[in-house]
Amino acid sequence: MVNLLLENGDLVVIEQSDFQQLLDVLAERTYQVVGPTIRDSAIIYDEMTSYTKLPIGWTDVQGKGTYRLKRREDDALFGYTVGPHSWKKYLHPPVSYLWRTNTTADGFQVTTAIEEPPKLAFIGVRACELQAIAAQDQVFLQGRFVDADYKARRENIFVVAVNCVQAGGTCFCASLKTGPKATSGFDLALTEVLTGTNHYFLVEIGSSAGADVMQAVTHQPASPAQIEAAEALVEATTQQMGRTLEPLDLKELLYNSYEHPQWDELGERCLGCGSCTMVCPTCFCTTTHDTIDVTGETTAHSKKWDSCFTMTFSYIHGGNVRTPLRSRYRQWLMHKFATWLDQFGRSGCVGCGRCITWCPAYIDITEEIRAIQESTNKQEEKIGGKL
Ligand code: SF4
Ligand code: SF4
Repeated sequence: MVNLLLENGDLVVIEQSDFQQLLDVLAERTYQVVGPTIRDSAIIYDEMTSYTKLPIGWTDVQGKGTYRLKRREDDALFGYTVGPHSWKKYLHPPVSYLWRTNTTADGFQVTTAIEEPPKLAFIGVRACELQAIAAQDQVFLQGRFVDADYKARRENIFVVAVNCVQAGGTCFCASLKTGPKATSGFDLALTEVLTGTNHYFLVEIGSSAGADVMQAVTHQPASPAQIEAAEALVEATTQQMGRTLEPLDLKELLYNSYEHPQWDELGERCLGCGSCTMVCPTCFCTTTHDTIDVTGETTAHSKKWDSCFTMTFSYIHGGNVRTPLRSRYRQWLMHKFATWLDQFGRSGCVGCGRCITWCPAYIDITEEIRAIQESTNKQEEKIGGKL
């Protein structure tokens, strides 16, 4: 091991044979390690103590409404993209308790239910997912109201990002400049290089906590050739995106397209199932539920993920304000690509492609936007021609 003191921004290399050390060092520092693994024929995120739980030698094949795992011809540890899970399940869980009540001898007692969050180390966070976490940070931490549960969870994580060296069939992060290379928001960022007998990770140190962890893992300084090889892989990924999207002037285009016929057409196809919002790493809407146990002695007030596609989501004062599916789909897409920019100064989409892969009606957000863009361009050309 080379014992030079590591700093933020340093580039080092760890051999594949030493990768387990990274997980062990994180565990020694009392992190519960979570990362990609295979369950029910999909790559999901779960606890792991051994790197052998990673989907070694597997890749995913994704398209509109389709997801399949396929064997690779090598033993890459991270040779796939993103699956149905996102890291929001740890930072903004599907269900969390806000408060509970218990009956007492002289009435009842209310306890807030913010639990001590686990100290988690995320392994294999992709660039688009880092951007999604940054988007949720804005929603939960940087507005007028801070979500105490999210804050406690967020403060307790260690992030090992992985730069993508192959693009998925539904990815379009390159169009939105949210990937495939991690640029911020990580403690360590890895690029996996696997050529012939060489199998190593170029590691970029992103924080003092990252430097501290890497100091305890066998590593060596990265050579110019190793840096070049890793950069070439990420650059090639940029050129392989399964989807593209032209984001220029999209906000204005959408604001001028409230009555576009494409929404009617979408209303015919969309099932209102909400799958797109569940898999989306930036969607953050919730509803609340009260439950009472059978003895009547304790109650719980919980927060649960909700979806703008459900009928109950926009139920206000005795009526639903977005009854037709065309309105619900329009609300979702407009929020992602137009109103989110006014609310938060950034797009609500990071181009991960999950909503395309997991839509049972084969709806592709990039195709829908393109249809609106192209018909508007044609319309403008017609008007221009008349003038
Ligand atoms: S809208 Fe779709 S592509 Fe964009 S971040 Fe959400 S799931 Fe990913
Ligand atoms: S767009 Fe697809 S995934 Fe989303 S609600 Fe409609 S049918 Fe379901």
